[in-house]
Amino acid sequence: MNTTKKDIRALSKEELRTFFTTNGDKAFRGTQVYEWLWQKGAHHFDDMTNLSKETRQMMDDNFSINHIKVDSMQRSSDGTIKNGIRLHDGMIVESVLIPTAKRSTACVSSQVGCSLDCKFCATSRLKRMRNLNPDEIYDQVVAIDKQSKLYYNRPLSNIVFMGMGEPLMNYNNVLKAIDKITSKEGLGMSPKRIVVSTSGVPKMIKKMADDKVKFNLAVSLHSAIDSVRTSIMPFNETFPLKDLREALQHWYAATSRIITYEYVVWEGINDTKTDIEALISFCKFAPSKVNLIEYNPIDDGVFQQAGNAAIDLYVSMLEAKNITVTVRRSRGKDIDAACGQLANKDKAS
Ligand code: SAH
Repeated sequence: MNTTKKDIRALSKEELRTFFTTNGDKAFRGTQVYEWLWQKGAHHFDDMTNLSKETRQMMDDNFSINHIKVDSMQRSSDGTIKNGIRLHDGMIVESVLIPTAKRSTACVSSQVGCSLDCKFCATSRLKRMRNLNPDEIYDQVVAIDKQSKLYYNRPLSNIVFMGMGEPLMNYNNVLKAIDKITSKEGLGMSPKRIVVSTSGVPKMIKKMADDKVKFNLAVSLHSAIDSVRTSIMPFNETFPLKDLREALQHWYAATSRIITYEYVVWEGINDTKTDIEALISFCKFAPSKVNLIEYNPIDDGVFQQAGNAAIDLYVSMLEAKNITVTVRRSRGKDIDAACGQLANKDKAS
């Protein structure tokens, strides 16, 4: 780690080009370096073989390349791979590769820890330490893409921002990372294959809509009744369902893209007909679909996944109102890599 030199990857292509012209070289040199950093994933200036030795040395004197490092790797019996990622300042986040028959999905983190306090989520027990930089987000995707090629012989097909942190509370950096993931100079992935999942920050959902982003939106709803939602997701007090609903209507009006609601059904919390009816009413405000996700226990037994009867009731009542509903099974549970289980458990930090 080097804290005195500037991280070269914080520079845009234009800034790199300017650096070279002000140092008496050609702007084109900046483009070459940019390609080494982003397309070829160089970790050292010495890897940049089409630059002269002097130029490489000059770069090394001025800059560092702060790459993330895969610090630990656990493989689940279902093929899911959970990575402990060490950032340049020593902090750890987790990123997961989820392979299915047709897809390879990367689940990436946007913050170290999380400032929200969802009662059912392991990450909420870690204090939010800091936001990830755009390159730290991008690097997770690159690392998982490499893993997907190595272990499953195919590149990544999808990316979900469902790891640690609340992406919309680190909006600018998430957006910059997605720009790079989707640009030709980065990974060239289609934004249609990217999902940003939020617990629902109304102001930022509106901003995203106004920014005309091209990726998909998922909202962790879990209840469409304010009192219930506040009891399990206390920030709902500050961002009540009325504001969320209004922001989602704004989203649909601006993007014409349907919203996915992530929803866990818990015994004794949101497993009654009244809960389902509230969800149905909520779904009417903007075109949406419901993803019923399995609960991944995080320890204390306060939350229990509802039984099949409750899930079946959700499915039949939603379908009766023509709302698309899918039931998603968890992946990587045996290694604590599933949704809401990311908590740096095998780390002292
Ligand atoms: N902060 C963002 C992204 C991280 S959570 C968000 O809230 O959407 C990713 C998804 O996992 C969310 O839908 C979240 O509600 C869900 N989740 C959290 N803890 C869980 C758990 N223990 N079991 C199942 N899903 C969980």
